[in-house]
Amino acid sequence: MDFELTPEQRAFRETLRAFVDKEIMPVATEWEHSGRYPTEIIEKMKQMGLFGLSVPEEYGGLGADMVSFALVFEEISRGWMGVAGTIGSHSLACWMIARHGTEEQKRLHLEDLAAGVRRTAIALTEPGAGTDLQGIQTRAERDGDFYVVTGTKTWITNARHADPLPVLVKTSVTEPAHRGMSVLLVDPATAGFSVSRDLPKLGYKGTETCEVVLDHVRVPVSALLGGVEGRGMQQVLGGLEMGRINIAARAVGVAQAAYDAALAYARERTAFGQPIADFQAIQLKLADMATDIQAARLLTYWAAAQADGGKRVDMEAGMAKYFASEVALKAALESMRIHGGYGYSQEFVVERLYRDAPLMAIGEGTNDVQRMVIARSLVSGKSKVGW
Ligand SMILES: Cc1cc2nc3c(=O)[nH]c(=O)nc-3n(C[C@H](O)[C@H](O)[C@H](O)COP(=O)(O)OP(=O)(O)OC[C@H]3O[C@@H](n4cnc5c(N)ncnc54)[C@H](O)[C@@H]3O)c2cc1C
Repeated sequence: MDFELTPEQRAFRETLRAFVDKEIMPVATEWEHSGRYPTEIIEKMKQMGLFGLSVPEEYGGLGADMVSFALVFEEISRGWMGVAGTIGSHSLACWMIARHGTEEQKRLHLEDLAAGVRRTAIALTEPGAGTDLQGIQTRAERDGDFYVVTGTKTWITNARHADPLPVLVKTSVTEPAHRGMSVLLVDPATAGFSVSRDLPKLGYKGTETCEVVLDHVRVPVSALLGGVEGRGMQQVLGGLEMGRINIAARAVGVAQAAYDAALAYARERTAFGQPIADFQAIQLKLADMATDIQAARLLTYWAAAQADGGKRVDMEAGMAKYFASEVALKAALESMRIHGGYGYSQEFVVERLYRDAPLMAIGEGTNDVQRMVIARSLVSGKSKVGW
């Protein structure tokens, strides 16, 4: 059994760490509170090739393995989770196009997306349907060589920058729901397409999350992902394993940042004539945090390594996402307690971590849904717990 990263993965992590420490950490708190978009950081991420993480090398991407993919989201989220959001849904959409797109669609989009010249996102959720994607209302009706698309999507991260925007639509209302859905790669310059507003959020600043309106948008049939109707649900669900590893890794990064801040503060802050780190009550919190974070990290790398081994990892990725996001929530709160009153101040990083952590329990399927996925996998006999 080998719990080590490969030399390449270790070198990649060191590069990421140096980038996060130098370019993200010093500005994150200030930019977050001033509502400044992290343009310069995004430009550097483009130069590092991070927009091409999930794009195969033959289309100009890094074609990263899943463990390296997790390292990117962990390290960037240690600095600023919102910035990880700018490449999160982008990477998932790139993966979907690379995996399911026609050769023409890959040639048309992947090179630009890998370079960050154009960016992308994923539009699944609607005002009336999130977990229950079969309940979406966005319709695409065939009219000659076009689909006419009408509907509203909400909570779409990066929608303002997406070109194309993959949109989950209903192409049939007579087929069973899961077979009546397709993904269309929508060009945002098409008449009737608009990003109607940015949604105000608790945290996850530094990346916009938007409402998108499609009003009789004419999408050419050539933009149907994979060229065959009715595969949308399958295409989207295939990406969820990757999405859950992404969220698990972000949670590990946020939890690590909360722990790092707590340890540094506890060593520095004195009360009753000694550093508060000398009090056993503080030490117990630090020990619990460190243990939980290491367990979450192992679960995340394990799910990623299993995926790299070519396995379906619905249960493993679900476990990692569920556990790591709960650890992030707990670590942010414990770090805040250790900071005392300063933990409630916007001048300390823990306040941002406390607002960012809950998203990981919601995004890519709520944690209750993860628990149902895990249980289903176990009860059906598809997966077992053990080594
Ligand atoms: C900041 C942010 C960014 C996002 N970015 C994107 C994005 O880029 N693209 C995108 O498409 N979506 C995005 N989302 C949407 C996100 O994926 C959904 O919010 C999430 O899937 C949950 O859906 P919902 O909000 O409609 O909640 P609902 O599905 O309405 O769930 C509400 C509650 O009911 C529970 N529930 C639902 N069904 C069941 C069930 N069968 N059994 C038991 N409990 C159940 C849930 O666990 C939850 O507690 C984003 C959301 C946020 C907050």
